[in-house]
Amino acid sequence: MQGLSLKNVKISIKDVEKNKLIYDDFGEMLFTHFGVSGPIILSSSAHLIRYKEITKKLNENKIRLYIDFKPALSFEELDKRILRDFEEFKNKDFKNSLEKLLPQKLIPVIVDLSKISQYKKVNEITKEERKNLVELLKNFEVIINGFRPIEEAIVTAGGVSTKEINPKTMESKLVKGLYFAGEIIDVDGYTGGFNLQIAYSTGFVAGNS
Ligand SMILES: Cc1cc2nc3c(=O)[nH]c(=O)nc-3n(C[C@H](O)[C@H](O)[C@H](O)COP(=O)(O)OP(=O)(O)OC[C@H]3O[C@@H](n4cnc5c(N)ncnc54)[C@H](O)[C@@H]3O)c2cc1C
Repeated sequence: MQGLSLKNVKISIKDVEKNKLIYDDFGEMLFTHFGVSGPIILSSSAHLIRYKEITKKLNENKIRLYIDFKPALSFEELDKRILRDFEEFKNKDFKNSLEKLLPQKLIPVIVDLSKISQYKKVNEITKEERKNLVELLKNFEVIINGFRPIEEAIVTAGGVSTKEINPKTMESKLVKGLYFAGEIIDVDGYTGGFNLQIAYSTGFVAGNS
């Protein structure tokens, strides 16, 4: 699925050992040569990296990403939608019946994971098989086993505490004549412009002061 970019998907990141939801979000993501990326994945990464015992959990395959490819539809609604498509394509092979529902790159993967033979005629697919297909599309599981290296990071958390900076001037409260701006300060936001805004605003104030 490398290069496949998805809009309007819902993701949940769970610690499956504790059955705990660590993060969920809705928006854009993409599949890359290494795994997954895109805005909602970057945001989830920021939460995940702070999760207790994360390295151990990742090594033990306890952290899973669940993608809902059709968040606007409930299980029942998606089942009905698939039924409608199946009715239209009833004499086709299963592998040729998902074109209206899914992006091209996703189809072979879903067909493979559905455990329904790709050559099965659509009118022979059982209700049980269809239910599994719906489950796969609403709860697509990806095992998360690591982060990308710091060199590829978009923003770094941590830095000079805001408690030690005068926000009106950006001057250090500890060292007179020393001013801070941008990444060096312990503030960080989600991807989408917040970090540039932090850099510009604090830079402007520090420069003027
Ligand atoms: C790939 C990528 C994508 C990003 N996308 C977004 C985004 O979409 N939205 C968003 O809000 N933020 C984004 N960011 C984050 C944003 O770019 C940074 O938060 C912001 O640029 C920080 O500004 P800064 O001036 O504090 O630091 P920097 O932009 O890192 O500037 C620091 C400068 O200091 C120079 N320098 C370092 N050491 C020395 C030295 N010893 N002497 C002289 N110069 C030195 C460096 O060369 C650099 O030019 C992205 C970052 C990356 C890496």
